[in-house]
Amino acid sequence: MLEVSREPIRDLAALDTAHHLHPFADMKELVEGGVRVMTRGEGVYVWDGEGKRYLDAFAGLWCVNVGYGRREITEAVVAQMDALPYYNSFFATTTAPTARLAAEIARLAGPGLSRVFFTNSGSEANDTWLRMARVHWATLGQPDKKIVIARHNAYHGSTVAGASLGGMKHMHEQGDLPIPGIVHIGQPHWYVEGGDLSPEEFGLARARELEEKILELGPERVAAFVAEPVQGTGGIIVPPASYWPEIQRICRKYDILLAVDEVITGFGRLGSWFGFQHYGLTPDFCVIAKGLSSGYQPIAGVIVADRVADVLTNQAGQFHHGFTYSGHPVAAAAALANLRILEEERLVERIRDDIGPYFAERWGSLADHVMVGEAVSTGLLGAVQIVIDKATRTRFSRPHDIGMIVRNFCIMRGVIVRASADRILVSPPFIITREEVDQIVSTLRAVLDYVAAELS
Ligand code: PLP
Repeated sequence: MLEVSREPIRDLAALDTAHHLHPFADMKELVEGGVRVMTRGEGVYVWDGEGKRYLDAFAGLWCVNVGYGRREITEAVVAQMDALPYYNSFFATTTAPTARLAAEIARLAGPGLSRVFFTNSGSEANDTWLRMARVHWATLGQPDKKIVIARHNAYHGSTVAGASLGGMKHMHEQGDLPIPGIVHIGQPHWYVEGGDLSPEEFGLARARELEEKILELGPERVAAFVAEPVQGTGGIIVPPASYWPEIQRICRKYDILLAVDEVITGFGRLGSWFGFQHYGLTPDFCVIAKGLSSGYQPIAGVIVADRVADVLTNQAGQFHHGFTYSGHPVAAAAALANLRILEEERLVERIRDDIGPYFAERWGSLADHVMVGEAVSTGLLGAVQIVIDKATRTRFSRPHDIGMIVRNFCIMRGVIVRASADRILVSPPFIITREEVDQIVSTLRAVLDYVAAELS
């Protein structure tokens, strides 16, 4: 193992703040506050350059699902690098791991979803299906059927199309987004936006906004609807049970393609291989990334329904789209090794039958805290909504500030969580033990106790 002494770590941090522009960062604040250099990971733990250990309750960035330090993946990567470190899949060529991985993904996705287009990131995968959807309808003689309906407070990535599909106001404010042809409807966030409606009534009302929008625009102009099965970055928003069946009904009725963005939910996080299986949906596109390789290599893609892929394959001619690293053999080898671990260790079943229900019970216990409006979970995703008054569901006037305070205290106490405004999010590795779940919950409770005492 590479040992790094304290002095070079400080130098590294200085080099970083001088030369590295970070994603989603206020660089001025970052330069003033400094960076934490992470040096090592094992199981659910990571270490920084000062030697401090953290329980990573966020699995990196929703991705290190099999945990850190998996030799099987490292060995698969090294073997593929030795055999063939790169080849493209542009000119009627492929590589062994790329072909095998496509087949494995199709097997896990099940009937009707037998084709995969590979990309490097979730953002690119969203760009990819958007172009495919428009080519699909144009090939079928409907070139005007090209508008995509997405949702406020969704996250679909940072490319121009990805950020446009997303519904993050602060992202739209930079760079004149969304691009034309992408419109947004409301999110199914009952706790904050549900008012006097029951969750089921609210779920139906929000789903019916899709129908209203389709009728307003004209079904002959709407290509697709896109959504995350459970919104992740927006705050782990679990939709009411009435929501998804109604969305599926509406998409079928008006012949609108359904794109599910499973960058977070794909490959087991909800206790099913995919969120669309969990919710009983039949998508036309399924966006995959993160959990495909547990973040060990950058690889992502779109699973394409046969009804769309058949048009593309048989009628559309050349699809002028792709990336130098689409289906990269080393990334594909890492993904194959990762999927093997998930299956051999039955980690998806473990979430469904064992650690998921335990996590739900322990996480749900936070709901009795004076600062917690709701503590929701599904599979191994959990969110806590911080409030100033539970009875009236009143939030702090500066939601981002309270969220960051709670998050920072958790990290100081050795548990990495994330804040989405005033919601605290966790998404731990699938290998987490019951004791480690207890540690996450007790750390968050202790931090909330401390903050509540300071505020009173
Ligand atoms: N879609 C969803 C649902 C995501 O959560 C993310 C990233 O967090 C993306 C797309 C973008 O993926 P990437 O960062 O790989 O471009």
